[in-house]
Amino acid sequence: MALAPLSMSPKEAVLESVLPSLYLSTAQVKVTDLNPHEDRQLQQNSNYRWLDKNGYSDKASRLLDCGTKFAHFRDKNGHDKLSKTFCKYEFCPICGMKGSRTHRTRNTRAHPRLMWAPVLGYMVFTLPLDLSRSRMPREILNRLEKESYDIVQRNFKTEGAMARIHLAGDRPGHLRIHVNILFPITGTNGIGRVDPLILASVQQAWTVFINKFFCLSLDVTDVKYSFATTMKKKYAKIKYVLRPIIDAFMFMTLSDEDKHYIVGLAGWHNTRWFGKLANHKYKAFLLSKGLDPLAYEKKDPYLSNVCPVCGAKFKHVGTVWRRDINKDAWRWIDDHTLMDRLSYIKLQEMKAQK
Ligand SMILES: [Zn+2]
Ligand SMILES: [Zn+2]
Repeated sequence: MALAPLSMSPKEAVLESVLPSLYLSTAQVKVTDLNPHEDRQLQQNSNYRWLDKNGYSDKASRLLDCGTKFAHFRDKNGHDKLSKTFCKYEFCPICGMKGSRTHRTRNTRAHPRLMWAPVLGYMVFTLPLDLSRSRMPREILNRLEKESYDIVQRNFKTEGAMARIHLAGDRPGHLRIHVNILFPITGTNGIGRVDPLILASVQQAWTVFINKFFCLSLDVTDVKYSFATTMKKKYAKIKYVLRPIIDAFMFMTLSDEDKHYIVGLAGWHNTRWFGKLANHKYKAFLLSKGLDPLAYEKKDPYLSNVCPVCGAKFKHVGTVWRRDINKDAWRWIDDHTLMDRLSYIKLQEMKAQK
């Protein structure tokens, strides 16, 4: 076993003994070593066992069932589609992977509300270390998101924003709560750089709020600003902010108290939208700009509820187990979606004609 770094706390030393390669980078871990960074089966077993032992047997079985079933859709012309179903827990080794179907769904749903922005602003609001590691109830997390948005709105005069909390940073074993805000910046002719006075004002407002809300007397807090102006960079920012944070490996490294906290947050809407991008307003807002709110969803065969062959609407007609699927009768149209063989052939003919 590798020697533990001297700066290791007793809790970290325990983790080190359980997960020998935790404090080695992936490159340092020998192939023959147990490597919890990469071993999805180990991650699933470990998280399944913990959930089952700690009173979450329903969630444990959803974790185990993840990806074993398909939702069956059919349209009025008899075209069939199967979409693989997922548990959507970040601590699942399938759903918690960067680029997982769950992550991609979040991206696709965010794109119409953010990609049109000539400049996509990105603000990170951090908390003092102790506070960032505390297990805050969802009401407080919601309040942090709302306050962050209000500060951005006041200082950047933005029309709306997406807020998402990252519950941890890169370091395993601990929570590290911070708030991310992505927001369109308009009226600057495509320029993302802002007057330092605006950023100073954002920082000042966040410090005042944190001091008041948590009864602290900090001189300063840490806020970070960046922006994206190209399509590629905007996609990357959205993907980064929406990535899974407490993934299967991170979950394994947390204390029992933190694990209970994370499981207790299941079902909480972390990604929240404000201003004209709020759930009940964004469709009208995008339409008023001549943008189709479903433009990105339509291009995603897994999410689209429109048949790619005839354009009719799909209806959910049932659930199919993976083991019951007759491979000869179905064809993959993307990583997680199948169509019946005849529809698939028609789809390929249509593509060839284009
Ligand atoms: Zn899953
Ligand atoms: Zn159809």
